[in-house]
Amino acid sequence: MFDTLSSKFAGAFSALRSRGKISEKDIDATTADIRLALLEADVALDVVESFTARIHQKSLEVLPTLQSGTNQAQAIFDVVNQELTQILGGGARRVRFAKNPPTVIMLAGLQGAGKTTLAAKLAKFYKDQGDTPILVASDLQRPNAVNQLQVVGEAAGVPVFAPEPGNGVGNPVKVAQDGIAFAKSKLHNIVIVDTAGRLGVDEELMKEAIAIRDAVNPDEILFVVDSMIGQDAVRTAKSFQDGVGFDGVVLTKLDGDARGGAALSIAALTGRPIMFASTGEKLVDFDIFYPERMASRILGMGDVATLAEQAKKAFDGESSKKLEEKFIAGEDFTLDDFLEQLEAMSKMGSMGKLLGMLPGAGQMKKQIENFDESEITRTKAIVQSMTPLERRDLKVLNGSRRARIALGAGRKVSDVNALVDKFSAAQKMMKQMRNGGGMALPPGMPGLPPAPKKVAPPQKKKSKSGNPAKRALENG
Ligand code: GDP
Repeated sequence: MFDTLSSKFAGAFSALRSRGKISEKDIDATTADIRLALLEADVALDVVESFTARIHQKSLEVLPTLQSGTNQAQAIFDVVNQELTQILGGGARRVRFAKNPPTVIMLAGLQGAGKTTLAAKLAKFYKDQGDTPILVASDLQRPNAVNQLQVVGEAAGVPVFAPEPGNGVGNPVKVAQDGIAFAKSKLHNIVIVDTAGRLGVDEELMKEAIAIRDAVNPDEILFVVDSMIGQDAVRTAKSFQDGVGFDGVVLTKLDGDARGGAALSIAALTGRPIMFASTGEKLVDFDIFYPERMASRILGMGDVATLAEQAKKAFDGESSKKLEEKFIAGEDFTLDDFLEQLEAMSKMGSMGKLLGMLPGAGQMKKQIENFDESEITRTKAIVQSMTPLERRDLKVLNGSRRARIALGAGRKVSDVNALVDKFSAAQKMMKQMRNGGGMALPPGMPGLPPAPKKVAPPQKKKSKSGNPAKRALENG
């Protein structure tokens, strides 16, 4: 996401930073580079012009106030960061909750924008915060939309009000109204109404959306838009704004190779904040949209705030506490604990996405793309193939046990050995730390085992009986 844009910005700033003293001409050049980068990213021309005019003007203002080139470059960087945050919507507001529940959120947008998927993500997001959302299936047009909503609703663990089969059958306005009445009677505090889109903006679509809007009087109308459709996103947004009107924007498919134009244009052109972002097909691929964090990512500073939040969510509660207590009590960190940590990591989403949030991720693009996501699954499979005793006490792992584990996990014995060696080393390190050496690892965040090839040679003494793994291999 925004990779190209990000690397162009990085290029513009590295040129600027190499200057001993920055001149007006340098600012002209940087502004021109940024202008080109934005146009290439498909950002709407009006937005590009006013953005570059502002950064040019503000950079010229800060230039004479500073002496060294480094400070000047940093100040210009700050100007761009602030302005970028502004065009992404500035300090975006959150969903307004109704004084008298339920809060009604209506989703609008073209077919394929990702509304149905989003409905479930949004519902899960609120459910996880202790709310009691319900989904209402008012998209009675798109083939299979009702059924799809039921499936994703179930996956999110949220009820779905779907009295009509859809596929062209049923009255979407009545479903929406009945849905609200049902939600009230069952004391749901949030109702999310999924509506029908069309392939393009047409009169019928607008009429239906307006009828639903007038019937249910939503607290929020969220316009859902596929960020991969480039300039079309802006045109569609304008049509929806003039037709149904909306209060906030949800950008979907930000995980694609979107050039980012939609994200950078829509808030500025519609005056409506981008409130949520969707970054994949899974329910967890979703978050509040933070303009400042997005600006930070585009400028190559990463998104450590989101990373920390996700880690907290995944590693929260019981298991972290248990681990911390074990650590303090002097108990061993076992493979069972490790498995729990791996599972928590899987909950955080793909490693590629997580690594992409680190500062300077732009420079590690290749490595991130090449990260082998299935390594975690393979490691988990090895641990899961062990008996409880083996997970607690690595010493029992003789050759035949290792061979059995490898077979169970569908891996080679050398993979089992690599994991065991690496894990023993980690255990030893934790013991040393507990005994007063070095800094403690943050509880609940052990390092991942690297790919077996890169594993350091085992740090233990050779046993008299030789390497059990070799024996297992020789035996067959
Ligand atoms: P609707 O017609 O607006 O209800 O769109 P859907 O919810 O059916 O989504 C259309 C397609 O886009 C489906 O295949 C979704 O799985 C996919 N999709 C939705 N959101 C995202 C996203 O953020 N990233 C990616 N990669 N795919 C998405």
